Amino acid sequence: ERLVDSVADREDQAVEAALRPKDLGEFIGQEKVREQLDLVLRAARARGATADHVLLSGAPGLGKTTLSMIIAAEMGAPIRITSGPAIQHAGDLAAILSSLQEGEVLFLDEIHRMSRPAEEMLYMAMEDFRVDVIVGKGPGATAIPLELPPFTLVGATTRAGLLPPPLRDRFGFTAHMEFYEPAELERVIHRSADLLEVEIEPDGAAEIAGRSRGTPRIANRLLRRVRDYAQVKADGLITRDIAAAALAVYEVDARGLDRLDRGVLEALLKLFGGGPVGLSTLAVAVGEERETVEEVAEPFLVREGLLARTPRGRVATPAAWAHLGLTPPRSQTA
Ligand code: ADP
Repeated sequence: ERLVDSVADREDQAVEAALRPKDLGEFIGQEKVREQLDLVLRAARARGATADHVLLSGAPGLGKTTLSMIIAAEMGAPIRITSGPAIQHAGDLAAILSSLQEGEVLFLDEIHRMSRPAEEMLYMAMEDFRVDVIVGKGPGATAIPLELPPFTLVGATTRAGLLPPPLRDRFGFTAHMEFYEPAELERVIHRSADLLEVEIEPDGAAEIAGRSRGTPRIANRLLRRVRDYAQVKADGLITRDIAAAALAVYEVDARGLDRLDRGVLEALLKLFGGGPVGLSTLAVAVGEERETVEEVAEPFLVREGLLARTPRGRVATPAAWAHLGLTPPRSQTA
């Protein structure tokens, strides 16, 4: 398990409930999304109506689940949480939809991973608040229409582009969640530290924020590891030095790269002179599966501007040489 993984692990799941902002005012960053959502929800409340369906797109750990809970809280409505992979059959979805209360928020995480028949049932439910429940099989099968109470679907996906257009079009409002700026992550860290009753200096929060990959979930996880270190090795107070020393133990560097990321970058620079080199060759050199390099390590390296995927292979950028404190060969400095 990677400390810098943006997907929640068991410990995250156990502690996150306590760290979630409860209303839009408490939600840090994402100014545009907050402003737009605030208008959508206020208008619905003023009309006494159920809010439009909302699609949230963005990487794991950026606050999609949190926002869905906030939407329910702001609307004074209950919330039901499920995910695309949990809905195998259209019947699973029918069971959920038919048990919703009026105005309820249905949070559907990883909505792009729903089965096709369930997806088609959802179209009708979103648009007409109605589903056809199929009873029987073969020629004798009949569709029994079932009225649903109005509800608000909040769908979450890593990329809105993964959704079939007919599904995407049925959302009244789509919000793109961006990675957070370091200053915003510092606020997330200070807020969490208060809730966890951890003492932290501003420089300590800045040090953790810089290593958190733009992701609140990772910031909160690093904060907990640094807290442990501060308790065991010092008096509990998180200073910049304590944060840096703690994260050095966990091999998360100043930019948030971990051992795997650095391994890929080091191989690319030291063994292949910065590339271009093919993915398979690079993977063998690192001693990892191709998929691990491509899907786990590279996205962040690309986002950070340290590595480029070109038609001729993987290439290190000048920033990669600088980050590892290495000098590029002459031919590349020109
Ligand atoms: P997602 O559903 O996108 O994977 P979550 O909503 O589960 O992400 O958020 C992960 C963690 O990060 C939660 O513990 C939450 O408290 C924290 N978090 C996310 N966004 C914010 C934010 N804008 N302000 C404060 N904390 C946040």
